[in-house]
Amino acid sequence: MIIQLKKEIQDQEYQKLLNLLKNNSFKTRSVETQLGRYILALGNDNFDIRIVGNLPGVEDVHAVNDKHLLVSSKWKTSPTQISLGNGTSIGGGDFTLIAGPCAIEDKDKTEQTADFLKGQNIGIMRGGVFKPRSSPYSFRGTGLEGLKYFSEICHERGIKVVTEVMQPEMIEAMYPMTDVFQVGARNSQNFNLLDELGRLDKPVLLKRGLSGTLDELLYSAEYVFSGGNEQIILCERGIRTFEKAYRNTLDLNIIPLLKEKTHLPVIVDPSHGTGIRNLVEPMALAAIMTGADGIMVEIHPSPEKAMSDAKQTLGFEEMSILIQKIHKTIRFRQNELFAKKF
Ligand code: PEP
Ligand code: MN
Repeated sequence: MIIQLKKEIQDQEYQKLLNLLKNNSFKTRSVETQLGRYILALGNDNFDIRIVGNLPGVEDVHAVNDKHLLVSSKWKTSPTQISLGNGTSIGGGDFTLIAGPCAIEDKDKTEQTADFLKGQNIGIMRGGVFKPRSSPYSFRGTGLEGLKYFSEICHERGIKVVTEVMQPEMIEAMYPMTDVFQVGARNSQNFNLLDELGRLDKPVLLKRGLSGTLDELLYSAEYVFSGGNEQIILCERGIRTFEKAYRNTLDLNIIPLLKEKTHLPVIVDPSHGTGIRNLVEPMALAAIMTGADGIMVEIHPSPEKAMSDAKQTLGFEEMSILIQKIHKTIRFRQNELFAKKF
């Protein structure tokens, strides 16, 4: 059961409610986010929820029998929309396109990419400055110095920054320069990191783990929400399977199922999901038809020369073609006019 509290609930009302729940064999957990205050009550499935529904200080009460309570669509039936403040939002019926290099490499290429995005009316740029690489000898990113010029270049152009955070200790330094904190596949179940991101007032883009299940992804999102941050975007980025012909298997099954189970926005990363440039476009378009709220694609001014993930990276020309096709596909999906801004 999720009990939504009124902002103005009195201390005595709150204590009375907790006592009532305790006396009815519930275990409780209080959650306070930027948007609301909740009590999660677990352990008594035979309770008549109307008993708490009418108490003073209670806004609403929901009987949710899902394991993932706060991210469940069973209590919050309208989809969560995350506004980034530059006219761009994610979820809630909007389709969002995020693009940028795998890694931020230098100022010049970052400017070229940001200019390209601006010209295409794309409001969010991705780019890693701390790169989780399988080999310690691969390029591991430009660090905070890279993030500084990345954010300056983007913010001068009204573009928002998505970048990966790998350690809780880096959040503070990254905070002023980051608009959306990405949690990479390798950190999808780094619960200390998720706890810390729960304390933030900025969105978290949470990737599915390399072999993460749907339940595990939703539990990871539940960590962030129950930690206090409701602004979560889920991202399918391919999973490890026995198939070796491509880097990962993009699991599009998960999109309609996630859309059914959670109110959170769900986006797809066809770049890591395939690992092969020529597969990015068809899988991006397929993802739209599964109901995805957005797509995140790796692009680079000279994709073959990209310092990481070159094989799956699109050039600007290929990306422009993909954008045209995305417009057409969204139009087809919604049977509506072209999206004006991503
Ligand atoms: C990335 O987006 O650059 C990345 C490293 O992705 P993932 O964590 O999905 O491998
Ligand atoms: Mn990459």
